[in-house]
Amino acid sequence: MKKHSFHKFTELRPALEFMEKNGAQSKIIAGGTDMLVDIRKGASKLDPVKHIVDIHDIQELRNIEIKGNVCRIGACCTFKEIGINEDVRSYYPVLKMAVDRIGSPQIRNVATIGGNICNLAACADSIAPLLVYDAQVRLCSVGDERIVPLENILIKPYKTDIHPDEMLTEIILPIPDKDWKYCFYKLGRRSGVSISRLSYAILLKTNKDKIEDIHFAFGALFSVPKRLLDLEQELRHQTISADLWKDVSRKVAQKIIEETGIRWSTPYKIPTLQQLFFTSLMDLT
Ligand SMILES: Cc1cc2nc3c(=O)[nH]c(=O)nc-3n(C[C@H](O)[C@H](O)[C@H](O)COP(=O)(O)OP(=O)(O)OC[C@H]3O[C@@H](n4cnc5c(N)ncnc54)[C@H](O)[C@@H]3O)c2cc1C
Repeated sequence: MKKHSFHKFTELRPALEFMEKNGAQSKIIAGGTDMLVDIRKGASKLDPVKHIVDIHDIQELRNIEIKGNVCRIGACCTFKEIGINEDVRSYYPVLKMAVDRIGSPQIRNVATIGGNICNLAACADSIAPLLVYDAQVRLCSVGDERIVPLENILIKPYKTDIHPDEMLTEIILPIPDKDWKYCFYKLGRRSGVSISRLSYAILLKTNKDKIEDIHFAFGALFSVPKRLLDLEQELRHQTISADLWKDVSRKVAQKIIEETGIRWSTPYKIPTLQQLFFTSLMDLT
C-alpha cells in the first residue's frame, strides 16, 4: 500500500491554506467510505497524491441551518445527521428518504453528503434529490469562493469541476413551498447496503388537473445524476392523464438510451425504469 502523509484539521482556514500550497498533490478525506476503499485497493488515481487532508472534524462544515429563504447543509454533515434533522424532514422529504436508504447505519454514521457529491459515482444517492430542490454548492479556496448550481460541477463519473485548491463547504437549498407532491425511488439488488441500480426523485405541483410545475432527476441511469429540464418544461401546464405519464416515461427511457447507448443492463433497466417511473407518477396524481 502506498504511504501518504496524513493531515487532520479541525478548522476550515488552515485546511484551505494547506490546500492552497499542496492542493495538486492532496486528496481530501471526510468520512472515508469511498476514499479508504480506494486507498486499500491502491487505486491508480491516488498515484499523484502525497497528502491526505482529513476534514471530517471541521465543525464549521457540520451545521444544518435555515437562514432567510435558504437551508445550508455543511459538506461534512453525515447522512445520519441529515436524516434526523427536523428542517430536512419538513422541507426536503425527498432528500430525507434518499439518505435514510444509503448503505447501512454504520455507513450513514460517517459518510458525508460532500463526499457523496465529490466522489461523483453515477449511483450516488443524494445527488438526484438535491438536483430537484435546485441545490447550489459553495466552493471555497483561501482567497475566493464561488457559489454555483450543483449540476455545473457534475462533469463525468468520478470527475467534478472542483479546483485542486478548493473545498466543497456547503450545499445551499432554497426553501420550497409546501405544495409539492414528492417521491424518491431506489431500486437495488437487495433492500439493505445496496448500490442503486436506478433511482429517481420527483417533485410535482398540480393545479386542478394540470401540471403547474414538475422536477425530476435520475441516479444510476445517466453517466452522472441528472435532471431532464427540457422534458420538465414541455410538461408544464399539460393536463394530467395516464397517457401523458406513459409518454413521459417512454421519453425518459429514450433519453437514457440516446445518452448511454445500449449496454448490458439496458434490457433490464429500461423497461423497469419505464414501468416504475410511470407507476410513481400515477401514484402521485
Ligand atoms: C458498504 C458501503 C455502502 C455504501 N452504500 C451507498 C449507498 O447506498 N448510496 C450511496 O450513494 N453511496 C453509498 N456508498 C458510498 C459512500 O458511502 C458515499 O459516496 C459517501 O457519501 C462518501 O462520503 P465520505 O465522507 O465517506 O467521502 P470520502 O470517502 O471521504 O471522500 C470521497 C471523495 O470526495 C472527496 N471529498 C470529500 N469531501 C470533500 C469536500 N468537502 N470537498 C472536496 N472534496 C471532497 C474526497 O477527496 C474523495 O475524492 C457506500 C459505501 C460503502 C463502503
